[in-house]
Amino acid sequence: MTLKPNTPLYSLFHQTYIVDKLLASGGQGSIYTLKGDPKHVAKMYTADSAEEQQRWLRKLEKIRTIQNTLPENFIRIQDILRKPQTGYIMENVSALPSVLSKIYPLGKDEHKPSNFQEWKIWFNKWGLEKRLLLGWRLASAFRQLHQQNLTYGDISASNVLIREVDGQINAAVIDIDNIYVAASGILPVLGTPGYIAPEVLEGLPIDPAAEDWSLAVLLFQLLRLGHPFRGSDIIHSASEQQEADALAGKATYVSDEDPALMPAEYVCTEKLKRLFYKTFAKYKNRPLSRSSAAEFEKAFLEAYYNLIECPVCGHFHFPYVVPDEKHKKETGQDKYISICPWCKSKDGVVRYLRIFTGYWGPNNAVQQYGPTSYQIILKKGLQNIDTQFIYPWNHSSQAFLQFRYTAPSKKAAAATVCVYNPHHSNAQLYFNTPNGLQKTDIPADPSKAIVLHSGNFIVCNDTIQPCPIKNGGPVYPTATIIRYERTEAC
Ligand SMILES: [Zn+2]
Repeated sequence: MTLKPNTPLYSLFHQTYIVDKLLASGGQGSIYTLKGDPKHVAKMYTADSAEEQQRWLRKLEKIRTIQNTLPENFIRIQDILRKPQTGYIMENVSALPSVLSKIYPLGKDEHKPSNFQEWKIWFNKWGLEKRLLLGWRLASAFRQLHQQNLTYGDISASNVLIREVDGQINAAVIDIDNIYVAASGILPVLGTPGYIAPEVLEGLPIDPAAEDWSLAVLLFQLLRLGHPFRGSDIIHSASEQQEADALAGKATYVSDEDPALMPAEYVCTEKLKRLFYKTFAKYKNRPLSRSSAAEFEKAFLEAYYNLIECPVCGHFHFPYVVPDEKHKKETGQDKYISICPWCKSKDGVVRYLRIFTGYWGPNNAVQQYGPTSYQIILKKGLQNIDTQFIYPWNHSSQAFLQFRYTAPSKKAAAATVCVYNPHHSNAQLYFNTPNGLQKTDIPADPSKAIVLHSGNFIVCNDTIQPCPIKNGGPVYPTATIIRYERTEAC
């Protein structure tokens, strides 16, 4: 039943709202705009019996009592509506674009660009930087939800909206009433075709591991602009049944190069590729071994930190290393350079913070020991870089150190990098001077932040190992090192 304009809606808290017009209808109910209140809408259920209405009321009250413990991404219940109509008042988010609008050019997956050139233009209308930031926020929201052992149950590209304010990107998830509350009498939703985990389709209940599957599908779509099981073979020659099977995960996971999707090498780091592979291929039928929201959260942030902004076309990309043919022709020597994969121009100056385990060799020279554990490519917009992650065992919410990056323009020839230590972390800065290394404390006051020069490194004193490593005879101490490098990308 559709409510007529001017129908009054009564709340549990003695408020009255007046229906303006129908905005959208779905399986559970309908959304109405409200007279004189453009910032809110009412979601009304199509509950037929008084008993069902009672169940919804109980569930809404339960969610309302816990909603402040949920990630802020879930659009809150503002007020609960009671008899004769049941529903709730929430923020009007109808102006926010959905993730779907960033995946398929016309909002539906039948409309695909026909070649890579077209994909590239479409992808970069809302580029890699924004996609990685959104993926990070979304994975973070579901990690927090799953930590409370709650599930939402209906992740899809239509249910996740994008808030973009002053360059900040965040995800807004609608239908908070989907969150499953045990013993409410309301059955959990089963999800949207294409996102439902294989074991849920077999009849098992949704749990955080099943929801990790749905999350992985959406994150995959955000980057590859297609479904993980809907490759060119399915798109071009499958029957309706084969198509449905593919969306249910009963097909082969698409390859990194499948021409029906964005090539993985342009849009995924190696870590992201591994996480998707783990969920969709390696452990497809082992839910507990799937990539979790927490793993995706970390990998998306790390991928974001590794972006380079192309000085020529302005699009973002990961370091993309190719042999320098010109150099080879002229000198006969091999040389590798980093280029922008979108426009093929050479990356200019790139500034990095590299975090690794180092040891002191002879003359105090710091040597890297083992692989770089974390790398941040500095770029415009990264004003304060939180290095908390280098202390994974430290659960405080405070940053270990703060770095400030100032880039006056995209080309950023005159950019500077400063460091300060607002939380008095136990770290010291080492300068290279003509007279050898000089050690200094890092000031706590941001206005006294020290300008870094390429090759400077910071020793995290807390990480100095009492049990030193052996390096061919002499014994040296090790520590976590943050090294700043300004380099021609290669
Ligand atoms: Zn470019």
